[in-house]
Amino acid sequence: MAVYEYDAIVVGAGPNGLAAAITLQQAGLSILLIEGAGIIGGGMRSSALTLPGYLSDVCSAIHPMAAASPFFQQLPLDKFGLEYINPPVLAAHPFDNGDAAVLKHSLYETADFLGPDKNAYLNLIGPIVDSWPDIAADVLGPLRFPKYPVDLLKFGIPALRSALGIANKFKTQEAKGLWAGMAAHSLLPLDRLTTAAIGLVLMANGHIKGWPIPKGGSQQIANALAGYFVSLGGKIQTDWYVRSLKELPSAKAILFDLGPKQLLEIAGESLSGFYKWQLKRYRYGAGVFKIDWALDGAVPFKATACRAAGTVHIGGTLQEIAVSERETSAGIITEKPFVLLAQQSLFDTGRVPEGRQALWGYCHVPNGSMADRTAAIENQIERFAPGFKDRILARHVFNTAQMERYNANYIGGDINGGILDIWQLYTRPALRRSPYRTSAKGIYLCSASTPPGGGVHGMPGFHAAKRALEDIWRL
Ligand SMILES: Cc1cc2nc3c(=O)[nH]c(=O)nc-3n(C[C@H](O)[C@H](O)[C@H](O)COP(=O)(O)OP(=O)(O)OC[C@H]3O[C@@H](n4cnc5c(N)ncnc54)[C@H](O)[C@@H]3O)c2cc1C
Repeated sequence: MAVYEYDAIVVGAGPNGLAAAITLQQAGLSILLIEGAGIIGGGMRSSALTLPGYLSDVCSAIHPMAAASPFFQQLPLDKFGLEYINPPVLAAHPFDNGDAAVLKHSLYETADFLGPDKNAYLNLIGPIVDSWPDIAADVLGPLRFPKYPVDLLKFGIPALRSALGIANKFKTQEAKGLWAGMAAHSLLPLDRLTTAAIGLVLMANGHIKGWPIPKGGSQQIANALAGYFVSLGGKIQTDWYVRSLKELPSAKAILFDLGPKQLLEIAGESLSGFYKWQLKRYRYGAGVFKIDWALDGAVPFKATACRAAGTVHIGGTLQEIAVSERETSAGIITEKPFVLLAQQSLFDTGRVPEGRQALWGYCHVPNGSMADRTAAIENQIERFAPGFKDRILARHVFNTAQMERYNANYIGGDINGGILDIWQLYTRPALRRSPYRTSAKGIYLCSASTPPGGGVHGMPGFHAAKRALEDIWRL
């Protein structure tokens, strides 16, 4: 009988690598988690990017999906230092007239703000909020026969539609704009099928667990996951950038928290010709251009609701956001980009020196674009917050190439590990009975390039580990 150094090795300590490592370690196996960077966390790292004393979230900032994750919720992360802060306004969406639409923790308060669209909002989001645990059990994993078909339909029927189709349910500019900002998280043109899905998930999760920021930065989610993993007996090795299977210790299973492109480079020799052909056809989506700012005070938004919001969606009307996302997908550098902002330091004051503020933001750009979007992004913010530019003390910028250099998973700046359209939602990275198994025995993918896709929630890692566990137990 073969003797292995570890039962399983996980390569990559992003949310999904950590989730996979924890799931395997919880089953009593011996696990080594390898991270290429000097610090664990992948898309959850935080550091001082702008000025000393200003902590920025390098990638993810706002965590509705982590807070509502069925897997993360089972873990004692609070005992390992994770504390979530929910701002009074989860997300605000300003308009040129100085008003703003808002997403609040309460479903009914949010609906009340929408006036004539109150009932349309309640009818759309209410049933999903009520049935979310059952819906999540069916949608946040691989495609399979649903456990709760009736509940799934409450989500599935609107989720399969385009965001523009769903927008017709609303009458007012406020509701349409708020909805467009949510759906634009899909990084797809809003007339595409399934672009409604992410908007529905984000709004419903907001009413369930909020849109929290972790006290001390997103890094604290990574640190809590790692702390729990180590407390179970798991081992972590950082500063080990894996280039070949040959350099890894022997193990019954190897799980890669990486995308198909890196899997081809590292394990290509072990994969079948057909599977390699499938991986090479995998499609990446739009990228991001990201900026962090150090400010000498809060962003002077005209709309007061924006000053109490953790997240601010800058893009104006539904039509404007639709144009921006359509042009980006067509490879065009859009004049007025849709901008996502996070104001963590308003609520987590320890992240900045006293009296100062920081701001986090990005816009979508064509995959691999080298365009500098600094002026376009700052003009958009200035439009809704006159005087913003005067508050800038320093800024740090990431274009798509810098983003990919920072983390090899962000190919061309794609933060979702591959386009999340209807064709690739559940067939990521390839059409197979299990999307987590590769064609090589004992090698698995567990990253955002497997279902249910991008975001900090750990569900791809959890499901990939479950798959690997079943295979290990059969050995
Ligand atoms: C700018 C930006 C903003 C975002 N905002 C949000 C947000 O607010 N909320 C949210 O939920 N999500 C957000 N996301 C998305 C989220 O961060 C990702 O979807 C998520 O981190 C993917 O998790 P993962 O575990 O699949 O991969 P990753 O988090 O990318 O982790 C992969 C890990 O593998 C390591 N690695 C790569 N190659 C190797 C190698 N060869 N050897 C060893 N290690 C390797 C990397 O260093 C990394 O640590 C954002 C992402 C970005 C970039």
